[in-house]
Amino acid sequence: MQLCYLFGLGTGTFGRVYLTKFKTTNKFYAMKVLKKSEVVRLKQVEHILSEKRILANIRFPFIVDLFCTFQDDHNLHMLLEYVVGGELFTHLRRAGRFTNDMTRFYASEIVLAIEYLHAKNIIYRDLKPENLLIDHQGHIKITDFGFAKTVLDRTWTLCGTPEYLAPEIIQSRGHGKAVDWWALGILIFEMLAGYPPFFDDNSFGIYEKILAGKVQFPAHFDPLAKDLLKRLLVGDRSKRLGNLKSGSEDVKRHKWFRGVDWLGLLDKSVRAPIIPPYHHPGDTGNFEKYTIDLEEDNDNRQQQSGDPYQSLFLDFT
Ligand code: ATP
Ligand code: MG
Repeated sequence: MQLCYLFGLGTGTFGRVYLTKFKTTNKFYAMKVLKKSEVVRLKQVEHILSEKRILANIRFPFIVDLFCTFQDDHNLHMLLEYVVGGELFTHLRRAGRFTNDMTRFYASEIVLAIEYLHAKNIIYRDLKPENLLIDHQGHIKITDFGFAKTVLDRTWTLCGTPEYLAPEIIQSRGHGKAVDWWALGILIFEMLAGYPPFFDDNSFGIYEKILAGKVQFPAHFDPLAKDLLKRLLVGDRSKRLGNLKSGSEDVKRHKWFRGVDWLGLLDKSVRAPIIPPYHHPGDTGNFEKYTIDLEEDNDNRQQQSGDPYQSLFLDFT
């Protein structure tokens, strides 16, 4: 393969993501590598196949592009567009919290992305600042479709990140598109406050708070933002904004979004609030370095010959 691995960009539960360069063209990509044995052990086969299938079938300005996928005996690989500005999480922690205007900008681009996905009957299910990257001009790129799913109605798998789970997921009542609108509420709160609305030192404590549904709004919150959040963070999904008769239109028409140039956002003619420092297409200055253990990867390779999981990943091509 004409690719060289340059830098560890991130590591998650199942995968590692590396900055890579294609030797013949000198172009940079992000390569997500998942170990088959881990995917199987953690019962994520369906999720990975769905991540690949969904990403391969969508294209949107605020969603990361997938160029190709391939596999060898040990690993699954996804070659993604490299998003140079780093995680929104890093920028949020650095700033402490975002202003009302900054938050509205990011929230608007995310609303457009959720609207696009839902129109294709895809629920995203993993909205959080670590999965939102910013490009060289400061626009949002959503990455990590590991929990995304095509659904016509409801689904039952428990997945996501504790702080961002909607009540109906915790209660295993079956869930659908409404969970993304709930998570949008959590995200807007976290951007404005610098911390999420429901937190505790363990998942159980977080779930209890989510189900109790009491949100303490900091005094500095804009009253319209507070009004929007009260309509998004509604335990009863049949009354949750985004999940009502007019769907995403109701969210876009809320007064907090007044004045947003939705078309301007789509063609990226609206200037972003943070322009990340960027010197060349392979710049990694906006990512925190983590050590890649390619040695360990190679050791693992030598221990196993052949591919015992071949039949599970036939669709991953
Ligand atoms: P988790 O289970 O923790 O959610 P994951 O294993 O599903 O993670 P991703 O979230 O897809 O993996 O990627 C892990 C990290 O790698 C991201 O948080 C981000 O920092 C980085 N990353 C992912 N995709 C890209 C990309 N296209 N460009 C730059 N960095 C990326
Ligand atoms: Mg992730």
